[in-house]
Amino acid sequence: MSMHEAHERFVSETGARIASYLDACVRCGLCADACHYHQASGDPRHAPVMKFQILDRIYRRHRDPFAPLWRLLGRGRDPDPEELKELRELIYDTCSMCGRCTLACPMGIDTAQMVWIVREGMAAAGLAPPVLEQMARRAKKAGSPMGIDPQKLREILDEVSREYDVELPLDKDRADILLLDSSLDFNVYRPTLAAMAKILNRLGLNWTFSTRGYEASNLGLFTGDVDVARAMVARIVEAAEEVGASIVLAPECGHGYGSIRWEAAELLGFEPPFEILHISEFLARLHREGRLKLRRKERSLTYHDPCKVGRRGGVVEEPRELMRDLVSDFREMHPSGILNWCCSGGGGVVLLESAREVQLEAFRIKMRQVEDTGAEGVIMACAFCHYTFDSSAKHFGWDCGIEDLVQMVAEQMVVEDA
Ligand code: SF4
Ligand code: SF4
Repeated sequence: MSMHEAHERFVSETGARIASYLDACVRCGLCADACHYHQASGDPRHAPVMKFQILDRIYRRHRDPFAPLWRLLGRGRDPDPEELKELRELIYDTCSMCGRCTLACPMGIDTAQMVWIVREGMAAAGLAPPVLEQMARRAKKAGSPMGIDPQKLREILDEVSREYDVELPLDKDRADILLLDSSLDFNVYRPTLAAMAKILNRLGLNWTFSTRGYEASNLGLFTGDVDVARAMVARIVEAAEEVGASIVLAPECGHGYGSIRWEAAELLGFEPPFEILHISEFLARLHREGRLKLRRKERSLTYHDPCKVGRRGGVVEEPRELMRDLVSDFREMHPSGILNWCCSGGGGVVLLESAREVQLEAFRIKMRQVEDTGAEGVIMACAFCHYTFDSSAKHFGWDCGIEDLVQMVAEQMVVEDA
């Protein structure tokens, strides 16, 4: 695609849906204080409002009722190719689409959504970061961004089954629950995958993985490629319908949960005909019903709220219900819940070498938050946050005692004799 075509695509993709938000912005700058990248770098370009200024210019010149007049008066200008390239830094390297700025905006502007719209324009123009684009293409073709196709999935499940001595059903004809998992769990955090299976098996639930749809993570949402995002959620819906599942269980993957729970209906144009729950939500429900009993341990731990599970996903209390029964001394970070600071790696940021410096700087905010609690360790409920913590803590030589919520539940659940 030529740069001219890229520019045309960008303009056509980004113009239509944003007028009310753009008109509402009063340039107060309150969103700037809410953004961890802006806090970390101090660079005014990293303020959330600056990340979608380009949309404002495009809107004025092409969609505003007075657009011909603006053009006649020479107001604003279209983004030039160099500018679109530089936009990558603002849209991909310094935004995890965490939504914290959205909460801060007194005008109710969904600034994170604005970033997504710019990402859509960038993806359509072929300007998404190559590493994310490659992963998105692989996901569309193979079913997973790390190339885990159905055959590879079978091999992984066999390996996990043998290594952790757990049964992992695949392609059952009928099941009440379709379980998803993320590439990070399939590859890196296999103990979490095994833990989910152990819990579901011990509770005697009828569940399965499906080769038709198993990958929770959705790279289309990172790049801004709607076709990939739609294809990924469509696979899951087809898989759930095929086995007759009434529940689709999203694993510890924040954006994966958000994509199937909150984005699928818009992407597909219909409500998926089943319930969609984050694994912590599901386990808390069983805990409340008395079906999942936990042994409490004498420990002091805190919890990192994944943005797409808590702030953007609405699952805030459920993991806490479990954690208060898992540890004797559960300590909140400040702020926490919907105001929690992002881990600094979401939205694909941790995968971008170009973002490494600012991501690590932003991670310092998280380090301070954890250390201020004085807790022995910090609990994760998202593989992406987990990976960001692992890689960043390694960089700083910081021993923060990372724990995983699902693994803790598997280890501390009370198994009653049959
Ligand atoms: S969504 Fe999060 S990372 Fe993106 S601009 Fe807003 S606060 Fe910053
Ligand atoms: S907080 Fe809202 S109104 Fe204020 S500058 Fe940011 S986007 Fe605009």
